[in-house]
Amino acid sequence: MMRCILCGQEKSSGRQTKIGWTCNDCFNEFRQAVTSLHPSGESNRQRAELGAIFHGDMTPANVSHWDFSGPNSLIFRRMQDLEARGETIDRVTVANELMKNNELEEVGGLTYIVALCDE
Ligand SMILES: [Zn+2]
Repeated sequence: MMRCILCGQEKSSGRQTKIGWTCNDCFNEFRQAVTSLHPSGESNRQRAELGAIFHGDMTPANVSHWDFSGPNSLIFRRMQDLEARGETIDRVTVANELMKNNELEEVGGLTYIVALCDE
């Protein structure tokens, strides 16, 4: 049995994610939330690029904000802010920036940020 970091319950089946171990129910729930928010191929590309920035494979300077729309553009803007201040870009710092600007709910909450990091 493992303890799920999202619901806090002990479950027997789940998976290891970048933020810790989640049960299958929670994992599927946030996957679904992400897919319903962004069903198109275009948004898949945007998510892949945001994911690459989280992983350090790209920096915000490598991409244009015109590449992003909707919630993704809010996330990208906060990544640019962090980069401009020379701060680390990771799920915690980006989530904090969004929270400071009351944008975290708008972008789909922490679960969306976590899903991006996990791509
Ligand atoms: Zn759970």
